[in-house]
This record gives sequence, C-alpha cells and structure tokens, in this order.
Amino acid sequence: MNRWDWMAVRAFVPAVFALVVAAGSMWIIYGWQSSPYLAGMVSTARWIPLAALAFAVVHGAWVSYRLWQAERGEGLLCECGGLLSAEHDGRYGPYRRCLACSRNVARRNYE
Ligand SMILES: [Zn+2]
Repeated sequence: MNRWDWMAVRAFVPAVFALVVAAGSMWIIYGWQSSPYLAGMVSTARWIPLAALAFAVVHGAWVSYRLWQAERGEGLLCECGGLLSAEHDGRYGPYRRCLACSRNVARRNYE
C-alpha cells in the first residue's frame, strides 16, 4: 500500500473503532440479559451500540466526503496534499497532523 492508501486507512480508524465498540457492547449487553442483577440495565444500555453505530456511519460518510474533496485539491490539506486530522492544542498553539506525511501543521498555515 502506498502512503495515500495509508492516509485513507488512518482517516477511517475512528469509524472502525466505533464499529468494534458497537459489536463488543452488543455482545456484552446480550450477556447481561441472563444476569438477574444486570438485566434491568439492558433497556438503557442497548442505546450504546446504536449510538456507536450511528457515529461510525456519520464519521465514515464525513471521511469519505473529505477524501473526495482532497482528490479534487479542496478542503483542509497539507502541503503534500494529504488530509489534515482533527485540531489539537499543542505547546506552540493549535495544530493538525497530516494523515499522509505525519507532519504537524500549525493553524496559521491552514486557515
Ligand atoms: Zn503532509
């Protein structure tokens, strides 16, 4: 895989993680139904996998849109053309990390 493929993989990591959380919590909550102590929490906890699944769908759609924009040279991009990740507060101010070359880009360079 080249660095553009890895950039797409890195961009989809939160969505895949949310899918894993949805599947894992569904499995755990299914086990609670047989427990007399935890069965009462099932009706509330069953929203956790649904929320994680909804996040995965929304985040996946958002990342797909940003990758499509990046292919056209639009959106928040690094000098190398890679997607910029979410903004972080660093020691020298807010910055975003490039998902292609891993360089940190200060806010003044993408606003
Ligand atoms: Zn870059």
